Amino acid sequence: MTRFVDQAIPYPAAKDYGSRSKWPTLAVVWHMGEGKNVAQYLSRDPLRGVSVHYTVEQETDHWQDGEVVRCLPEDRISGSINPRTIRRGDDPDGYYGASHAKAALGSWWPETSPNCLVISVEVAGFAKDGPTEAQQRSMVALWDELKARYSKVIPLGHRDWQEVKACPGRTAGMKAAFAAMGGHGASYSEVRDVSTRDYASGRICTARDGSKLFDYPGGLSIGTVDPPRERDYLGVDRSGEYALVSSELDGKRRTAWVRAKAVSDIRTAPFPSLDCTDAVAAERERIATAVLAVIRD
Ligand SMILES: [Zn+2]
Repeated sequence: MTRFVDQAIPYPAAKDYGSRSKWPTLAVVWHMGEGKNVAQYLSRDPLRGVSVHYTVEQETDHWQDGEVVRCLPEDRISGSINPRTIRRGDDPDGYYGASHAKAALGSWWPETSPNCLVISVEVAGFAKDGPTEAQQRSMVALWDELKARYSKVIPLGHRDWQEVKACPGRTAGMKAAFAAMGGHGASYSEVRDVSTRDYASGRICTARDGSKLFDYPGGLSIGTVDPPRERDYLGVDRSGEYALVSSELDGKRRTAWVRAKAVSDIRTAPFPSLDCTDAVAAERERIATAVLAVIRD
């Protein structure tokens, strides 16, 4: 995987508000840029002195979809949150709001400027549209890298700090990215809890052509079901919304989740030799190491 921190800084000009080394790093704050070529925009001393550590670009003449650009070293203070207008309440549905910011910052909230305590990321595109799938994958890759270096961080959105803007929005794409990071704000968990409790070896199902495959329930789409549609059937997650099936991705056999409604005709495998024990063991291993999750029986 790209180690973003090792990249040269192509746009070193995002505004630098000084050293952050006195403060702990407690959150990664996500924004939607309301435009494209965000790194270039930020390099031109934009209005209100906005700056971030990273951008996740969309496709333009200059960038590939999902390209991550480092604009400011992580030990410098960015300016992505106005410390003078910190909100004190939550949205009516509770998805964004002060309680999430507080969950991340603890006793640092609300007196210390959050800019001293966070890594900030501007995602190109619009809050009403959300990130593309390539951007979602880059967001999670960047998150995994930051989490490895700053063990206390949790994911936040701009709207946890300010209610003047929708940023970063409530699209399915943004929510999927948060879910793939382990959850947003106060609902963040390092343990991504999925279940194969209904697992029974020797069953197969038919998966609908073209239905999406997911990394785990509610997570990122990692491909689609191509023929053969007949798959080993390993069970459903605890919500019953997703089913775990065998799959082949990038030439490797592994398991993946599909929407349970895309699965039909669950039946005993016609061949007695069919056994998914290895696939389940591999899934446990993959999730335990790759995304810090456990599978509970
Ligand atoms: Zn924002």
